[in-house]
Amino acid sequence: MQINPLDIIVRFKKDSNKDFSYQLDDVIFDMIKEKKPCLKKLYGDLNPETTDIVQLSKKVLSDFCLDNINVKHCMEADKGYTYRSYVQYKSIFFGDYHYKQNNIEVALHEIAHVLCDNHFNSPFEKHGALFVSVLKWLILHYELLTEKEFDITCQKANNFKVKMTDETIVSVEFISNDIDYYINLFNEKSKEASYYQKNGEKYIENSRYKENGLYHIFQVNFEKKKGVLVKRKLFGYEDYSKNIFSKLTNEELVNFHLISPIFLMNYNGRKTSYRYEGDKGYSYYKVDDCFFLDREYECVYDLKDYQSQVKCLTKRLKEERIKYKRCSTYEEFDILQEQLTYEIHKRKHKE
Ligand SMILES: [Zn+2]
Repeated sequence: MQINPLDIIVRFKKDSNKDFSYQLDDVIFDMIKEKKPCLKKLYGDLNPETTDIVQLSKKVLSDFCLDNINVKHCMEADKGYTYRSYVQYKSIFFGDYHYKQNNIEVALHEIAHVLCDNHFNSPFEKHGALFVSVLKWLILHYELLTEKEFDITCQKANNFKVKMTDETIVSVEFISNDIDYYINLFNEKSKEASYYQKNGEKYIENSRYKENGLYHIFQVNFEKKKGVLVKRKLFGYEDYSKNIFSKLTNEELVNFHLISPIFLMNYNGRKTSYRYEGDKGYSYYKVDDCFFLDREYECVYDLKDYQSQVKCLTKRLKEERIKYKRCSTYEEFDILQEQLTYEIHKRKHKE
């Protein structure tokens, strides 16, 4: 199932695509085993017969200027699970089962997570639509399956229920000439970048900017003088110009009620999970990073009383035909709140 990037309006909720993507992994693994494709592009100079998935992953990571990522065969990863491999911060860990199986599909699965974090700057991706499209892109790039064969795996795995967003990936370019041109270009345009330290020197590692609905992201290996330039479409939550409030009239906008699920903590630090509605629609009680409320903002509610208040509120809003949205996660609330503020500022500017 293909999704339009602009329809992705929430950074992350729960990992709802996870089971589908795992089912897909199994079918891809079987299909590659059965097909026995040419492995030349994937392995390069390595011998597929004698190379394990740790060495293979290092080779593929190096193709993508990710030489700083660690890869480990980790016996403990399978503990309590039948099989398990995962990415944690700047390391990939392969459980014993996947390692012995020499499962190249699992290697690409974990690398797709790393690419989503870095090359696509979507660190909250988990197994979302972009993740599956990046995995597909990798499998096609290394010529393991054709697009048609990949479609068949989707059908076999879960009858196309897995969410994907191929359209988001506009281009992936490997840069080895004229690297300084790109470094200068990104230095000029980029407001966001990440760095790494080596021998007391600070090097740029990843640099990015948004322009005309596209995210331009440049991953560099400074020592090897090469880079990977990704252009991807913006998601709905990044492209404020097409936010969900832009269709509202000025009156609807000013009266709009955004109802948040803010986590409140009382003075004893206990979490209470009441939703709180800012009284002017777009004003709200901001909590700090640890979700501790500023003392001046603390309110103590009786839960039943609170629930009936929300019910009364939504009933009244419906009667008065005032538009509102109840957010189910703090992330959703946060993003919509930013977009609402953006839209209000934009209109004030026009007046
Ligand atoms: Zn995963």
